[in-house]
Amino acid sequence: MQQIVIESAEIVAIGTELLIGQTLNTNTHYLANQLNLLGINAYYQTVVGDNKERLEQTLRTAVSRSDLVITSGGLGPTVDDITMSLVAKVSNRPLVLDKVSQKNIQAYFTSSGRVPCQNNWKQAMMPEGATVMPNNNGTAPGAIVVFGFDGQKKAIACLPGPPDELKLMFEESLFPWLETKVKYRFKNRFLHMIGIGESNAEMAIKDLIEQQVNPTIAPYASPGEVCFRLTERIAKDSAEQNISENESNSLSLDQLAEEIYQRLGQYIYEDGERTLPEIVFDLLKEKNETIAFAESCTAGLISAQFGELPGVSSVFKGSIISYSNEAKENLLQVTQSILEKHGAVSEETALAMAEGAAKTLNSDLAISVTGIAGPDGGSEEKPVGTVYIASYYKGQTHVIKHLISGQRNRVRKVAVLRAFHLAWQNLMNKLN
Ligand code: ATP
Ligand code: MG
Repeated sequence: MQQIVIESAEIVAIGTELLIGQTLNTNTHYLANQLNLLGINAYYQTVVGDNKERLEQTLRTAVSRSDLVITSGGLGPTVDDITMSLVAKVSNRPLVLDKVSQKNIQAYFTSSGRVPCQNNWKQAMMPEGATVMPNNNGTAPGAIVVFGFDGQKKAIACLPGPPDELKLMFEESLFPWLETKVKYRFKNRFLHMIGIGESNAEMAIKDLIEQQVNPTIAPYASPGEVCFRLTERIAKDSAEQNISENESNSLSLDQLAEEIYQRLGQYIYEDGERTLPEIVFDLLKEKNETIAFAESCTAGLISAQFGELPGVSSVFKGSIISYSNEAKENLLQVTQSILEKHGAVSEETALAMAEGAAKTLNSDLAISVTGIAGPDGGSEEKPVGTVYIASYYKGQTHVIKHLISGQRNRVRKVAVLRAFHLAWQNLMNKLN
């Protein structure tokens, strides 16, 4: 039997809760992004409720026009979970008990001290001949079914609805499977920049953007930062020999990245996929140093983001959320005279907060944030969006005044990023 080649795909997200706006369809967003990275053309996205007739019809339509259909949801143990039985019907395969899944479901329940009920075994029923994808974050296993449809090879891959389960299963099982079935491969580089606006960053490489064929340059801007995704399409057969498909007169991916480095290198904080907090964490680990935060208008957002990183306790001393003047005085030793003379939102207070945090929490580096997130509290001298961010690093202090535009949440979000930026600048010795 000839191997399936996957050039086109579509995503079918299943669940009435998606149709009525109760759940945001983040799975489709995630999967679309992944298909793009794999070099698979995604032509359609569908959302369909937990309804037998409509789901069957949707699957048939999808299979008739795409090589691969990825479904999300409806793999659970309850009666409204109908995906697997309809996939079996559309692919013309009987549902059979998968022993490995049965064993895994048993083990999952045992490890959480529970006993599976009759419904749970339904999740071990798979279309005959399917490649089963284990669920290492829950109970419902997924499946990939390859079958003939109108004389062509088609595949349906079923993933569970809960986003954590879907992502892990995709990464562990479906992505590696798909990689062996695609015609092209995309090689990406992500250059992340901070401290420069999107239009200035684009202007600096306008000629490169205008000439692009392969590799391509895709600029993305998110609040406070800019990223260029550089993508080179490589034909699969030649990928093994590393022969790129690019036009002979255009730059290679690495040459293009090098050219961008020449022009914008000072703003690039990451050539890869790490976030700024992750980079700060890695730098602290490398240096065997510690960090602390003093947060006013961000009220714990910085700490929460940092705390998301596994293993961070080795470098993270703690944070002081000093929203009130009283807290700034009592917990961070910001003097009353500084607060009275300069105000809570000032260079002087920010500096004293950073120093206070470093001393109280005994860290090598401390970053403080104090600002006016709005909507109230602004003045002519200090409008909403005025944020002071200071650092105290081994006795050296530094403070930056930012004017962040937008509403409260944006101001706070960008302030978080700027705080990590200042930490990075200190650790990289890039303060000017
Ligand atoms: P379960 O075993 O939990 O029933 P399932 O595979 O049957 O999993 P669904 O019942 O369809 O999945 O969805 C479970 C939950 O996953 C939903 O309530 C919703 O919170 C989330 N979810 C489902 N589909 C999506 C989606 N497309 N995007 C984001 N979240 C989703
Ligand atoms: Mg369900």
